[in-house]
Amino acid sequence: LTEDARELLLSRIKDVADYPKPGVMFKDITPLLADPEAFSALTDALVELAGRYGATKIVGLEARGFILAAPVAVQAGIGFVPVRKAGKLPGATLAQSYELEYGTAEIEVHAEDLSAGDRVMVIDDVLATGGTAEASLSLIRRAGAEVAGVAVLMELSFLPGRAKLAPALGDAPLDAL
Ligand code: AMP
Repeated sequence: LTEDARELLLSRIKDVADYPKPGVMFKDITPLLADPEAFSALTDALVELAGRYGATKIVGLEARGFILAAPVAVQAGIGFVPVRKAGKLPGATLAQSYELEYGTAEIEVHAEDLSAGDRVMVIDDVLATGGTAEASLSLIRRAGAEVAGVAVLMELSFLPGRAKLAPALGDAPLDAL
């Protein structure tokens, strides 16, 4: 990212206090999505990372990860694979549950969408606790594929997401634009 592009992206992210519950500072990316120059700058930066990772598949994490990842897959000329919340995919899936602050969540991927030999790039908007990204890396490895890298628009650096993700990443990079 150039400094100008970084400034542009930052100016198009809205901080919404106490959403969806008290104490959370929600990072709203809808102004960025509505600005074609900003969305395209973000897509270009992610496509460049996909090239650097040598990615052969792009995984997007539901739901905002889908929006960011799909144009990257098209522009890079590689396949898009959705990792969804449990119960949304009709075919044979691999499922992975993970801890939330209160309770657990579960994500799934179609088993046939990833295979040995794939190098997978994971894309999401925000890395917070790292739980969702970590669970997605388990799914990718259980499908027999390799983790090429994780890219997020924002990392909430006051949370230990990067540290939580480190063991699952191994040598794969984590880039926060
Ligand atoms: P986590 O598993 O804690 O890293 O949470 C990551 C997921 O929750 C991502 O898919 C984000 O879209 C969403 N998320 C978590 N915290 C925020 C936040 N402060 N603003 C916007 N989205 C968030």
